[in-house]
Amino acid sequence: MARTMARIVRAETPHTGWCTRDHRCGVDEHRSADFTADDIGGRAWLTRVRAGNQEYIEIRARIPLHSNEKASRWQLATALNLMRDLLAEVAPRLGRLSNRDQRAVGRRAA
Ligand SMILES: [Zn+2]
Repeated sequence: MARTMARIVRAETPHTGWCTRDHRCGVDEHRSADFTADDIGGRAWLTRVRAGNQEYIEIRARIPLHSNEKASRWQLATALNLMRDLLAEVAPRLGRLSNRDQRAVGRRAA
């Protein structure tokens, strides 16, 4: 019931400069085309998403697992650890960009 009510009161938000402006967008969620990395033995997709006033990266990956159970468990544990590293590196602690991040943003804007 509460979920239904939340849907009814969703405010429509305008398309962005980077969203696909097609069926991938919703009333209050806008999605970019996928960015794909697939030349490295697996495949990963990144999508830029804006939901309401918050933008985020959505990440999906398909990584072949080794047929050996011990090796596949190592792959799973390694993937999880690297995802933690990824989050630690790029997830914003809002308003606290490091000096290195600020330099990188400045280079891209120039
Ligand atoms: Zn859109």
